[in-house]
Amino acid sequence: MNAPVHWNVVVIGAGPSGSVAAYQLARAGLRVALIERTVGPRYKVCGGCLNERGLSVLQQCGLGDALRDELATPLRQIVFHRDARQVAINGQVGAIVNRATFDAALAAAAVRAGAQFFAGVKASVEPLAAGTTVREPATRTVSLTQADGTLKEITTELVVVADGLGRPSLQRLAEFDGVTAANSRLGLGVTPSETLVSSGYEPATLSMALADDGYLGVARLADGRLCIGAAIDAAVARRGALDRWISDTIARCELPAIDGLSMASIRGTRPLTQRPARTAGHRIVLIGDAAGYTEPITGEGMAWGLAAAAAVAPFALKACREWRPEFAAAWERTLRRDVYGGQYVNRLLAAALRRPRYARRVFAAAAALPSLTAPIVRRLNRPQAVARIAA
Ligand SMILES: Cc1cc2nc3c(=O)[nH]c(=O)nc-3n(C[C@H](O)[C@H](O)[C@H](O)COP(=O)(O)OP(=O)(O)OC[C@H]3O[C@@H](n4cnc5c(N)ncnc54)[C@H](O)[C@@H]3O)c2cc1C
Repeated sequence: MNAPVHWNVVVIGAGPSGSVAAYQLARAGLRVALIERTVGPRYKVCGGCLNERGLSVLQQCGLGDALRDELATPLRQIVFHRDARQVAINGQVGAIVNRATFDAALAAAAVRAGAQFFAGVKASVEPLAAGTTVREPATRTVSLTQADGTLKEITTELVVVADGLGRPSLQRLAEFDGVTAANSRLGLGVTPSETLVSSGYEPATLSMALADDGYLGVARLADGRLCIGAAIDAAVARRGALDRWISDTIARCELPAIDGLSMASIRGTRPLTQRPARTAGHRIVLIGDAAGYTEPITGEGMAWGLAAAAAVAPFALKACREWRPEFAAAWERTLRRDVYGGQYVNRLLAAALRRPRYARRVFAAAAALPSLTAPIVRRLNRPQAVARIAA
């Protein structure tokens, strides 16, 4: 691997959070390495619906044109189904993205902005040497391992950890260990494929099927393939036969059947509702799912990650010059105020869905009075202000 040894910033993970952070940091004139464990466009378990808040971040970062093709499929309607009841949310509420090509396009934008991209390389942040006080070292060390086992160490003034659920690159730093909710649901995704067939799902629509033991979303990508993401109870995962659970949940909600599920590639995730003990430490900041995630019920994960990525650039400009211990608390405050401020809506909805009797009442009320949902939808989709970065 031909990576220089020293960097201003090392960004770990080229999902939406990491790539947009790398893009912004490179535009700000920093020397940025973007490290990604996988190679080539990869499918990420996701419903693929990017809300208006996420879109507003991309536009303000100047990425609207570069992503025009990726963002060309509008999301105009979300219909929640529970048994035979429906609640529809109409109006432009975002875009449907193909996570493989969307993520690749964001990484390409980071490279065009000047970041160096290393794919197929697993990063691990090294602990500080025993006996060092956290004020001392002006750099952090990151170990990079290639698929053939080749190992290289690089140093950096700031590590931006954007490696998703579970923070794999921080395994050696116990101070970031996570707290996982005892009843956390697990994510489930069906890899989009031509062999998954159903004529019933309209373009520009997300169909959500809600059940007592989980929920799933079905959307149509620009190329016509179906994108299916779900959050399920651990008991469902233990029982197995997940294709059957998807078919049964769809049937119970009277949605169109999908052929080919039994042959589909279905992938699971770690527990979803988790957060690290801290979101920053000496010359390290966490963004995106690495900084904590709840559930996909409101389809905000990418928007949270993008908002954090946009917020990290002005912070990094200061932190690279000189790290101060108070920066860790400052980053936590920034995340709470600017990124996760409205997360309580997600938590409330997720908690309501866990209590079947309560969920039925909430659903019946929303079905009878659809205008009740309008303020929630407005809140989730409100634009995010992004600090300007000199290009
Ligand atoms: C079922 C489901 C449905 C969802 N639906 C939606 C939706 O409709 N809309 C929405 O906005 N959000 C949705 N989400 C959430 C969304 O997918 C995430 O919030 C989003 O992907 C977070 O982006 P990220 O960049 O933080 O992390 P990720 O997208 O997970 O990217 C992390 C990257 O880091 C890489 N990586 C990991 N470890 C290392 C390492 N050691 N070294 C180098 N690279 C590493 C990974 O390979 C990966 O590419 C859904 C989630 C689930 C589980």
